[in-house]
Amino acid sequence: MSYAADVTIIGAGVVGLAIAAEISKGDKQIYILEKNDTFGQETSSRNSEVIHSGIYYPANSIKAATCVEGNALLYQLCQEYGVEHKNLTKLVVATCDEEIGEIEALLKKGQANGTPGLKIIPKSEIEKMEPNITALAALYCPTTGVVDSHGLMQCFIAIATRNDAHIAYRAEVTAIEKTADGYRVTAANDDETFTFNTRVIINCAGLHSDKVAALAGIDVDEAGYRLHFCKGEYFSVGNGKQKLVSRLVYPVPPVKTTGLGVHVTLGLDGRMRLGPSVEYVNSIEYSVDIKKKQMFFDSAKTFLPFIEYDDLEPEMAGVRPKLQGPDEEYRDFIIQQESDKGLPGLINLIGIESPGLTASPAIARYVTAMVKPLL
Ligand SMILES: Cc1cc2nc3c(=O)[nH]c(=O)nc-3n(C[C@H](O)[C@H](O)[C@H](O)COP(=O)(O)OP(=O)(O)OC[C@H]3O[C@@H](n4cnc5c(N)ncnc54)[C@H](O)[C@@H]3O)c2cc1C
Repeated sequence: MSYAADVTIIGAGVVGLAIAAEISKGDKQIYILEKNDTFGQETSSRNSEVIHSGIYYPANSIKAATCVEGNALLYQLCQEYGVEHKNLTKLVVATCDEEIGEIEALLKKGQANGTPGLKIIPKSEIEKMEPNITALAALYCPTTGVVDSHGLMQCFIAIATRNDAHIAYRAEVTAIEKTADGYRVTAANDDETFTFNTRVIINCAGLHSDKVAALAGIDVDEAGYRLHFCKGEYFSVGNGKQKLVSRLVYPVPPVKTTGLGVHVTLGLDGRMRLGPSVEYVNSIEYSVDIKKKQMFFDSAKTFLPFIEYDDLEPEMAGVRPKLQGPDEEYRDFIIQQESDKGLPGLINLIGIESPGLTASPAIARYVTAMVKPLL
């Protein structure tokens, strides 16, 4: 049987594009199918754009390994290709005695994960670094930064297309059928449907990746692949207060780590925003609920004493593709080659929530190593 593609990547978000850039370095025919009009219209353009350092994730998890490796790779890539970024650094602040134990635990977790340069700093040092915040002590994370996520995706596209990968927009994958030695993929847009054969499929469909896995015949509940949508909203901080903080400032994360707590992120242009909140929702929509303003204000006020209620304006929202449902246990990324389900050559990436942006170049290496023996 002749193949139109060696590898078909479903989804042109940052993860699919990072994989395309890495995998196209070999001499293979690569297709990327994206249902929207262009790349990065979903979670990859609705996030904090933080280059995370790797302190939050359990030891030996895929999240920890790909975050720490991805952090280093991302800085190298940004420097090599001129993607805008800033190594702003970050403080995780303890605002009461009980939280000091929690930042010490985070320090140990981060060190176990291989995050470089972490240290606990006392109040006197925080006052010199960030005179406008309130904290008793803080965990200093020197490798945290921010990146232009759009620029990063453009960079991955430039590398992939230079290596002859093809991207088809307005191409929604609607069927996946197993053949003797690969897959027949059907994709549709408003006007037409097309079908082609591929040896390998890499499912990077973000919020829809469980549905794409189901198209290939996987029972998502039995496999533990069912995704939950978890919305995160942001409020911007105005009234000239943007310059009062010069690095990212996070509270100690809530015990059930569905999120990292309402924190301060800074854009590359210096704009300050608070967020994201954490709310499980039934559908994907991106409005910001003005009624949450009081919660944002109260959370931020504990470590940003200069904030006034009127400084906050609704900004934007994103939706996390979460494997962990409400009140359920922590879940790692799923990056799985499905031979044991009778689907060799199908690689599912499911639940790629934060730190997926940071981890993307490391995930790309991980997946490329999985694909090589299949071709
Ligand atoms: C509020 C929030 C804040 C975050 N903050 C950070 C952060 O600061 N740092 C960090 O590292 N990470 C962060 N993340 C996580 C990060 O944004 C994601 O992990 C990452 O963007 C996931 O990329 P992706 O390519 O897997 O998914 P997406 O960007 O969602 O891309 C998936 C693509 O697949 C396409 N697709 C779906 N179904 C089909 C189909 N059937 N056919 C064809 N195409 C299809 C979609 O249209 C979409 O373009 C955050 C996430 C959220 C929600």
